[in-house]
Amino acid sequence: MSTDVPPSVLVLNCGSSSVKFALVDPNTGRRQVSALAERVGSPDCEVRLSRDGQHQTSTPAGTSPHAVIEHLLDALTESERAGLVGVGHRVVHGGTRFAASAVIDDDVLSVLDGLIDLAPLHLPANLDGIRAAQAVLPDLGQVAVFDTAFHQSMSPAAYRYAVPADWYHEHQVRRYGFHGTSHRYVNARAAELLDSPVESLRMVTVHLGNGCSAAAIRDGRSVDTTMGLTPLEGLVMGTRSGDIDPAVLGYLAPRLGLDLAALINVLNTRSGLLGLSGISNDLRTIINAAQAGSADAELAIEVFCHRVAKAIAAMAATLGRLDAVVFTGGIGEHSAEVRHRVLAGLAVLGVHENPAANASHGKGSRGRISSANSVPVLVVPTDEELVIARDTVELTR
Ligand code: ADP
Repeated sequence: MSTDVPPSVLVLNCGSSSVKFALVDPNTGRRQVSALAERVGSPDCEVRLSRDGQHQTSTPAGTSPHAVIEHLLDALTESERAGLVGVGHRVVHGGTRFAASAVIDDDVLSVLDGLIDLAPLHLPANLDGIRAAQAVLPDLGQVAVFDTAFHQSMSPAAYRYAVPADWYHEHQVRRYGFHGTSHRYVNARAAELLDSPVESLRMVTVHLGNGCSAAAIRDGRSVDTTMGLTPLEGLVMGTRSGDIDPAVLGYLAPRLGLDLAALINVLNTRSGLLGLSGISNDLRTIINAAQAGSADAELAIEVFCHRVAKAIAAMAATLGRLDAVVFTGGIGEHSAEVRHRVLAGLAVLGVHENPAANASHGKGSRGRISSANSVPVLVVPTDEELVIARDTVELTR
């Protein structure tokens, strides 16, 4: 590789119908290229690629993940291709086998094949993406970065469900937790902003995006989190219910004439902010509707914030001491309104908002949105792609 070509890692996030693709400089975090392919697998698959603020849309020749990745690589310049040092894959589930990112080899692939039942919608798509990238870029090291890995440090007290023990021993039914890459990143970044070593801090990190979760992090290690066997447990999300009494399913199945799979599909796709508001899964739309007088939209925001505050308090209790609260994700980073409502419920923990700093999202105050006498509360933009790029370089060096 010539010295004037900046190194970059190809970061791939292959979902069931989309491929996110980014060339990330692992040193600076700069995106040389980023692209999103939507409706992968269908004839109207479309790719949008951005480079230096310019956007272009194109249609790949084929619709498989393989064809889409090939199409995206073809769109790179000679020098972008020359700078590639590895491929990092976001992988939804690593079961109990992966407590850290891993170089992908046949053994890793066969472990992942065995975990498909735990994430039947996402893991097959992740595996398709890995196999396609291996075929198209056979000379580059490939690394898997797992959403679950960071939470493997939870103790049985946090990860076991109070159900018959053989559900755990024979069927791996336990809490795994997700968004681990994001919680890990913002924990480390918040420690930097607080000028304290990560090993001396107990903090609650709150990722609020389309999916939402909170984590309790002690000395840099996750000790509890709100998501469970799947990303359905815990907080209210865009379309997911979060926690409900499981007996609701038994009660409703005969009344609605729906089987379990159909009801769980409703909990995943038609619940959360969308279900409560009846308007949208997108918080911005819901806030606008609430301001225009929709009581259902207002209630959706109230339930969402009530549950976030409750979860932060529960996570703080598991830590025994609270040194910081950190907000991240699209909602956590951008919605002063949600943060304001959540913080209003946390005075009991010594958490107090600085309204002006909150309104400016902590910009100009090293992320801090709390008052001087408060446990520090920070807004920290997450960057999962940068973590994936850095892990890839580290493991393939
Ligand atoms: P994903 O989890 O898919 O990565 P994001 O982290 O981008 O999603 O979060 C999406 C959510 O963030 C949506 O509910 C969106 O409305 C919300 N959001 C983004 N920007 C703002 C904003 N300025 N104000 C309020 N909510 C916002």
